[in-house]
Formats: sequence, C-alpha cells, structure tokens
Amino acid sequence: MSTVQGRLRIAVQKSGRLADRSLELIRDAGLKWVKGHNDLLYRVENYPIDLLRVRDDDIPTFVADGVCDLGIVGENVLEEDKNGGATAEVVMPLGFGRCTLKLAVPPTLAYEGPHSLQGLRIATSYPKILRRFLNDNGVQSDTVVMRGAVEVAPRLKLASAICDLVSTGATLEANGLIAKETVFESQAVLIKSPTGPEPELAHLLESIIERMAGVVSSQGAKYVMLNAPRSALDEITAILPGAGAPTVMPLMGRDDAVAVHAVCQEAVFWETLEKLKAAGASAILVLPIEKMM
Ligand code: AMP
Repeated sequence: MSTVQGRLRIAVQKSGRLADRSLELIRDAGLKWVKGHNDLLYRVENYPIDLLRVRDDDIPTFVADGVCDLGIVGENVLEEDKNGGATAEVVMPLGFGRCTLKLAVPPTLAYEGPHSLQGLRIATSYPKILRRFLNDNGVQSDTVVMRGAVEVAPRLKLASAICDLVSTGATLEANGLIAKETVFESQAVLIKSPTGPEPELAHLLESIIERMAGVVSSQGAKYVMLNAPRSALDEITAILPGAGAPTVMPLMGRDDAVAVHAVCQEAVFWETLEKLKAAGASAILVLPIEKMM
C-alpha cells in the first residue's frame, strides 16, 4: 500500500530523456499539477495524486516496494534492476524513449561474433544485462562498470569494447565505434506496484491507467473519412492501414457510392491516399484523434 494516505503517487524521471514525455503523457491523461517547493513533488490539483520526480534508477524499487503506485521508466532500467526480489508489474509499453543497448567495438578489433569478445574487457553501465547476453552466448569477459562516458573507454584503453545505449548512433560514430550486436531493445513503460493502493484509490488508479492506454493508442492514430464506390468497398477498406471494422454509411441520392469512416491505428502516408484514390475513393479527409477510449 502506498505510504501517503488518501493519495496515489506516480514516480517519474526528474531529468533526462524520459522526463518531458512522461509529464506530457500524464497531462494528456487529464492530470493538472502545481510545482512543489522542493521540486521533488508535484501535487496534482484535480485528483488526489502526487508526482514524485526522482532518478530513473530509483523508480523500479519505489514502485516494487509500494512507495509509489505507478511509475514511468525505461525497460533498460527496469531490466537492470531485477534482483530476484519484489518486482514492479509492467502495465504497458508507452511508445516513446526507444533506444537499444548495443555492443560496439573499435574498427581495429576483428569481430566475427560474440566469441570474439572472449577474455576481453567490456565497459558498460548495464553489467547485469550484459552478463546475461555473454552467458547466453557462452562468452567469458570482464566488465568495467562506468556510469557515463562509456564510449571513451576503448580510447583510454580501459576496455576493448563497450555495451551502451544507442539512440541516434551519433555518439558511437563520434567515438569511432561500430555497433555489432543488439543486446536489449528498450522503450518507456508504465509500471504498477504489486502491493496495490488503498481500496478507496483502486478505482482512480485503474481509471488513470485506462486513460494513459487511451493516450498511447491514439498516438499516431488517424480518423479517415472518404467516399467510395460500392463496388470498390472491399478493396478500399483493405488499403486503410490498421483499421478495424470501418463505418459504412449511405450517401444521399447516391445508390452507387457510400461514405466510409475508419480509425487507422497505423500511419497514413501520402502513398496510402494515392492508393485509395486509385481504387476510386474521393473526398478523402485524414483527421488527428485527440482522445480515444
Ligand atoms: P545517441 O548519440 O543518440 O546514440 O545517444 C547515445 C548516448 O546517449 C549514450 O551516451 C547513451 O548512454 C545515451 N542514451 C541514449 N539513449 C538513452 C536513454 N534512453 N536513456 C539514457 N541514456 C541514453
């Protein structure tokens, strides 16, 4: 049970790559907050909820121990934190903060597969995830744990290879390193405490989760409206990307054509519109979706 009576707590990264997008998601779920004196706690005005702004490394433990009811954290942090004790439950992936933990080597290292790392030293901030990867590949290597600037380790002769997060790849390139293996793929996830909130707050917790799910599923989703010849209806609905069962309505004074409305869960590109037009669709409108439940 959360430690503060009568209020839910959501743990978010205070600063760093996930901080802004986490607050954006919470705001889009309808929560409004005021900043506290100490910057650690934002008090939500319209619901009994506090946002606890902490280091991302602390989020899995806070949520696993019930200090916070929900948390937004990178899967990489969650995975590295696994220690066999109580764990936070992953509610859903959030679709932002994507990055990949990669093994990279300098061009001077003749790399033919993980076995090329046998007996070498690898610098990383993720020793547990790396250890698992090496064990799975039957490779024995030493690891040097670095909290930052992992990419400089080969140049300083601290290690022969590195295992670090890659987002755009610019940092690897700037340090003359070449990515060789994907060790772990990560994105931000919503996590929930296994202990659950006090009973009076359970409904609010579920409602916040449901709203966040609505925000996530409406990201990138589009509402498409078009007119279609009846004869081309099957072909046109097949082109609509990620649409479930579209709504088909009669058009006044037209027996040969219908209006089609559909929520498309996947990106609607110009190429999609061109295909729809070629199949006979007209008056095609693509609209953003603000909320979905
Ligand atoms: P990039 O140059 O965009 O590939 O970013 C690589 C640098 O940013 C490395 O120093 C990484 O440690 C760091 N980095 C990339 N993605 C993340 C992330 N999601 N969380 C924390 N650090 C990251």
